[in-house]
Order: sequence, then C-alpha cells, then structure tokens
Amino acid sequence: MAKYKLEYIWLDGYKPVPNIRGKTLIKDFDSFPTLEQIPNWGFDGSSTQQAEGHSSDCILKPVARYLDSTVKNGVIVMCEVLHPDLTPHSTNARATILDDPETWFGFEQEYFLYKDGQPLGFPKEGFPKEGQGRYYCGVGYGLMGDIARKIVNEHLDLCLDAGINHEGINAEVAKGQWEFQIFGKGSKKAADEMWVARYLLMRLCEKYGVDVNWHCKPLGATDWNGSGMHSNFSTRYLREVGGKEYFEALMAAFDKYKAEHILVYGPDNHMRLTGLHETQSIDKFNYGVSNRGASIRLPHHMPKNGYKGYLEDRRPNSQGDPYKIASRILETIATVPVPK
Ligand code: ADP
Ligand code: MN
Ligand code: MN
Ligand code: MN
Repeated sequence: MAKYKLEYIWLDGYKPVPNIRGKTLIKDFDSFPTLEQIPNWGFDGSSTQQAEGHSSDCILKPVARYLDSTVKNGVIVMCEVLHPDLTPHSTNARATILDDPETWFGFEQEYFLYKDGQPLGFPKEGFPKEGQGRYYCGVGYGLMGDIARKIVNEHLDLCLDAGINHEGINAEVAKGQWEFQIFGKGSKKAADEMWVARYLLMRLCEKYGVDVNWHCKPLGATDWNGSGMHSNFSTRYLREVGGKEYFEALMAAFDKYKAEHILVYGPDNHMRLTGLHETQSIDKFNYGVSNRGASIRLPHHMPKNGYKGYLEDRRPNSQGDPYKIASRILETIATVPVPK
C-alpha cells in the first residue's frame, strides 16, 4: 500500500476559453491505479462559473490518468464535469465528441513564453534587435536565451513520463515562441493529452517565474507571428479509401460550415487569420496542396495517393479548445455521406 496523490484536473466554465483547474486527493493503492480504480469526485462549481451558489456541486468523472513524475506517487487525473445526476455539464465539450477509435488527430500547439508581460527575451522597451527570421528552429544564446530550452526540454520529459504521445518540438518564428506536437488514435485521445500537456507546461513554468501566453496574437498587429494549433485529422475512410470525389464533397462541407468552425477555433482569431504570416483570411475558406496560406492544407503526397491520407486544418488557434475543435471537425465530416 502506498499513498497516491491524485491530481484531478478539469476545465472550468470561463468564456470564451476555459481554464484548467486542479485539486489533490490522497488515496491508498497497492500500485499505480487503473482508471477504473479512480473514483468520481466533486468540486464547488460556484467558484468556477459552473454553478449557482445555492446548488453548487459539480461531479468530476475521471476519463484518463497519467503518471506525474514530479510528485512522489503522483497521478494526474483528467476529468469531465458532470451534473449531480451524472449528465454532462454544458461546459463539458469532451462529451460532445463523436466516439470513434478510428479517427486520428495530431495537434501542433504553438505558444509564447512570457516574463514580466513580454515575450521571454524581449528587451524592457521596444523590440529585439534581431527581427523575425532566425528564431525558427534556431540555436545560440543570443537568439534563444538561457531558460527557454530548459523549460521546453523539461516539459517534453514530463509529457513522455506521463505517457503523452508527443511527436516533436521546435522553436517557432517569433522570439520566445515554441511548438510541440501531440498525435493520438481515437477521437478524444490527442485532445485529452493536449490539455494535460498544457497543464504540465503551465505548472512547470511556475518555478521559473515564467508564464505561458496562449493568445493567438499576443504582439497584436505587428510583424511578429501569431500562434496557431494546426489540427491534423484523418478518419479510417480518408486513410484507406479517400478519392477525389469524396475529398471534394468533404471540402464543400468544410466551406459550408466555415463560420461554425471559426466559432470554436479560438478567440480573437481575426487578429491572426489575416491572409498574412502563412494564414488564410478568417472569412474565406480554401484548400491547397502544400499551401501554407490555405485554410486546409493537403500534404503533397495526398493527391498523388488517390486523395488518401490526412488533412491539416490550419485555422484553429493556440487558445482553441481541442475538445471543441475535434467535436466540430467530426460533426462536419458526419454530414458527408460515404460513397457506397
Ligand atoms: P508541419 O509543421 O509541417 O505542419 P508537423 O510535423 O508539425 O508538420 O505536424 C504534422 C502533424 O500531423 C503531426 O502532429 C502528426 O502527428 C499529424 N499526422 C500525421 N499523420 C496523421 C494522420 N494520418 N492523421 C492525423 N494526423 C496525422
Ligand atoms: Mn508544425
Ligand atoms: Mn508551427
Ligand atoms: Mn502545421
């Protein structure tokens, strides 16, 4: 028997984007607990914009658990929020994702590290001497500073220890800006892991006196890049059958529902989707092979391969909720009949 520290984390009811909340429950287990062994718990929803004071109980239902290698016998427990009658809370976007073990998502999370209200490494006043150009995948103290890579590498190890399927990391185009990628098979897996990875990054940064700025255009209308969360997706049908006709019908549906997609692709996206800096304008929809100025990019091998493979939706931004994004993408795909 050992005392395990279960860190239950969930998304609160703040709009337009939820925040991650967490609290710890101590429980005895013989060994690292399975998901089934971890009980439901509760919290005061009146403190998270999820309930009124007179009836404030919300239920935490564990949906995935991860090793927390920074804490002795630590477990991170990702939860859905339910009403006391065990129906999903209106803020529970995960519950709206169509369950499909054959859908795969890959999210590319970009973000800025911030210190004292500025991107990490920016001078107190004005902008760095070196403009955009050399930071992307860059190296050297003058460009990258001495803290960022430490944070990024430590975060990667925390995620790998947790069992999160990180696929890679890179320094991004702006100073202080980075990216990591998470891939998962199953319609909810990558989204769960993305929220846990965000949580681990924010918690890690506490000890460095650094914040994570998830906003999609923290430097406003300057020449500095914004942050996205490109969302790569494929269904079994797209991977194994595809075809030009199906592909074009799918893109017509994405065009038809473009406004519905933008609604859940993260706040302030009009600041980022301007048609500049490798983006398409927010009110337009297009797709293109290897086109980084398109809403949806087809990897170059896709048309050659009979339109089989995966697609990259480049519009979701860094603050977008991967649950809502996955849910919307699957909803649009479901409107397109699969040829018999
Ligand atoms: P880029 O920066 O050129 O867009 P990345 O390597 O950063 O490329 O991201 C590509 C993403 O596509 C990765 O997250 C990867 O997991 C994902 N991906 C690859 N194959 C598939 C697939 N079949 N279905 C869904 N996502 C995929
Ligand atoms: Mn990328
Ligand atoms: Mn990128
Ligand atoms: Mn990309």
